[in-house]
Amino acid sequence: MKNLEKFKENAVYFDAVNGKLAHSLLLISTDEYALENFTQNLVKTLMCAGENKPCGECSECRKIEHKNHVDVLYYPKNAKTLNSNEIAELIDSAFQAPYTADKKIFVIQNANNIDISMQNKLLKTLEEPPHNTYFLLQATDDNNILQTIKSRCRIVQVPSVDDDEILAELSKFNLDREQQKNILLYCENNCSLALKFASSSDFMEFVKLSHNILQNYRKSSQMLDFASVLYKLDDGFEEFLNIFLKDCSFVIRYLCTNESVNEIALTVAKDFSVDALVNIVKNCNDLIEKRARNCNFNTIVDSFLLMILEVRHKWPV
Ligand SMILES: [Zn+2]
Repeated sequence: MKNLEKFKENAVYFDAVNGKLAHSLLLISTDEYALENFTQNLVKTLMCAGENKPCGECSECRKIEHKNHVDVLYYPKNAKTLNSNEIAELIDSAFQAPYTADKKIFVIQNANNIDISMQNKLLKTLEEPPHNTYFLLQATDDNNILQTIKSRCRIVQVPSVDDDEILAELSKFNLDREQQKNILLYCENNCSLALKFASSSDFMEFVKLSHNILQNYRKSSQMLDFASVLYKLDDGFEEFLNIFLKDCSFVIRYLCTNESVNEIALTVAKDFSVDALVNIVKNCNDLIEKRARNCNFNTIVDSFLLMILEVRHKWPV
C-alpha cells in the first residue's frame, strides 16, 4: 500500500488523473521491481473505472494486476528484446481501436536493449501516436536509447523503494535479522537486488569473504590461500565482486564524508587510501567485463588478487 501512496505524490500521477499525460513515456530505474510497480500503478490509474484511481478493486484494475487486460499489451512477448516481427505487430495493433477500454496502452520492457534499427522503426509511431494510445517504455538506463526516441518521450526517473517495503518483501524469505540487515545495507534501496541476495544461498559467505580480503589480505604469500577460495566461486564470482565493490564504496564514502555505513568500513578505512580504493573499483569493473567476455576464470581471479596488492603499494595510506 505504501508504494501506492508514494506513487500518488508523483507528478506523473497527477497528469494521468487529469488527462494530461504525454503519450510516450520513458520510465527509468536500475531496480526492475520499482520499475514494474510504478508502471503497474500508472497503467491502473489510466484504466481504472473506480472513483479513487487507481482503486485496485474494479475489474479493470484487477485485470491489470493479473496482466490479462485486452487493451494493455506487453512487449516483447517471446524474445528478450523486441524483434522486427513484434515491432510490426505492435505498430499494427496501435492503429486498431481498443477492444473494451477507451484507450490502449503498450508497455515496452527492456527498451534499453532494443536494437537501434528497431528503435528507428518504433520512432515513427512515437512521433505521431494514434489517438488515445500510450507507450510506456521501461529501461534500466537510457544509454542505448536513441536521442530521437528520448526527445519524443517524457523521461521519468522512477523513485526508489523504501526500506519498509524491501523489508516486507524480505519477510517472505527465511532470513535471520543479521541477513536482513546486511541485505538492506548492500542492496542500497534496489529491491530487485535485495530479492536476488535473499534467494542466494551464498550471500552471507560472500559478505564475509569480502570483509576478510579487505581486512586481512596484505602480502603475496597469502595469495594462494585466497585464490583457492575464489577459484571455487565460479558462477558466483560476479555476485561476490559486486558485494566487494559495495564494500569499497562504503569505505570511500566513510573516508570522504565521515559517514559510517558499517563496521567494516570503519575498520578498513585506516588501511586504504581513497586513491587505492577508487583504482580497485575501476579495475574490478574491468574484470567484470572480462568475465562477461568469457576470459579464463582463474586468470581473472589471479589478476584480482595481484591488483589489490599492487594498488595498495602504489597508493599507500
Ligand atoms: Zn480501479
